[in-house]
Amino acid sequence: MQTYHTPLDLVRERSPERPVAFARPGVVAVAARWFQDSFQGDVFYAVKANPSPWVIETLAANGVASFDVASIPEIELVAEHAPGSRMAFMHPVKSRRAIAQAYFDHGVKTFSFDTHEELQKIIEATGNADDLSLIVRLGVSAEGAAYSLSGKFGVDSHHAPALLLAARRATQDRMGVSFHVGSQCMRPTAFQAAMAQANRAILRAGVMVDVVDVGGGFPSVYPGMVPPDLSDYVDSIHRGFAEMSVHKDTELWAEPGRALVAEASSVLTKVELRKGDALYLNDGSYGSLFDAAHSKWPFPVKLYRGEDGAGEEVEGPLKPFRFYGPTCDSIDHMPGPFWLPEDVREGDYIEIGMLGAYGIAMNTRFNGFGDAETVAVSDAPMASMYGLAGRHIRLPREQQQEERKVVRLSRPKGAAGKKGRRR
Ligand SMILES: *Cc1c(COP(=O)(O)O)cnc(C)c1O
Repeated sequence: MQTYHTPLDLVRERSPERPVAFARPGVVAVAARWFQDSFQGDVFYAVKANPSPWVIETLAANGVASFDVASIPEIELVAEHAPGSRMAFMHPVKSRRAIAQAYFDHGVKTFSFDTHEELQKIIEATGNADDLSLIVRLGVSAEGAAYSLSGKFGVDSHHAPALLLAARRATQDRMGVSFHVGSQCMRPTAFQAAMAQANRAILRAGVMVDVVDVGGGFPSVYPGMVPPDLSDYVDSIHRGFAEMSVHKDTELWAEPGRALVAEASSVLTKVELRKGDALYLNDGSYGSLFDAAHSKWPFPVKLYRGEDGAGEEVEGPLKPFRFYGPTCDSIDHMPGPFWLPEDVREGDYIEIGMLGAYGIAMNTRFNGFGDAETVAVSDAPMASMYGLAGRHIRLPREQQQEERKVVRLSRPKGAAGKKGRRR
């Protein structure tokens, strides 16, 4: 991977035709360390949030030794980039072949399920293995989360005790419970409440569990969504765990996805055309901007001017813009508002921040687009849960005017290497 000091250095050195994803491994490292220092349990990275090899490798190099996977390709990815790490197959619905391959070819022993039928599949596909860690996925309330992950999966409280009992009988090894409070959970106490719910199911079943897996849901910062400190979340989990009727060796697990990677990536897009307040970009809802289109998240943005002239920074009054992506589909629309200097024009570059989770990961090749390159940078993210940048992305126009700058760029005349600080 090529390395630049900042996104601006890349724009100065070469005007990229295609979108560029910026990787900030240092930011992933800080997040990984924070979870290990703060969370009193095992951290499984939920690979789906961002399956980039540099993410897997950086996490593994910074002590994350466990991964939450949902498919054979994810398992192969982790096996390649974090060899020897532990994997948990936490998709509650798997094909028999995927279960067998995971168990026999990759040594995966932890499986989750939310029905008796899936439990039976796991037992049969592993040849009645007696060394399985069987995790019952419980449905819990998703209040306070931007995305519910309970609508599709999770056994309801009425049927949970019987499934817990069946799981307990099916393994000599670990049996446990898991849930997901919903992604981008804005309320720390949601974890404690879900754990109380899990505890009631355990008591009604009359079983002992060896694992309490609190899933993901740890938030990041987006405009209009500034969550409480992450330490409030782990405190809520630790309190919830202390209140559960579990034995002294019961393990506490978490599966953060978003919080480990969201702030570590941004994407550089190019303005292909301006029509009033609509900017037509070379990345969109079929690329890295799924949430900007489908959830209307107004991601933070920075503008870089790619034109001849002096390389000075210019402040400009801001105006709200909306984006269109490069495909011919009218769904490819990101309403924003994205606050940019009012003179934004064709040929400018817009860096869209906080796309490390469920951004880069969502890229498709629809309509011939989506072929982004990745380069490493070492500047600060646009916002941070870990004190790496300002915590707040302020929305009111007056405040944004203080923060945002247009950067006028000169095309480097034969001095690209010096300016670009490329290694
Ligand atoms: C998606 C998912 C996660 C990660 O969720 P985040 O909200 O990104 O932390 C964790 N566990 C399971 C089972 C998931 O499906």
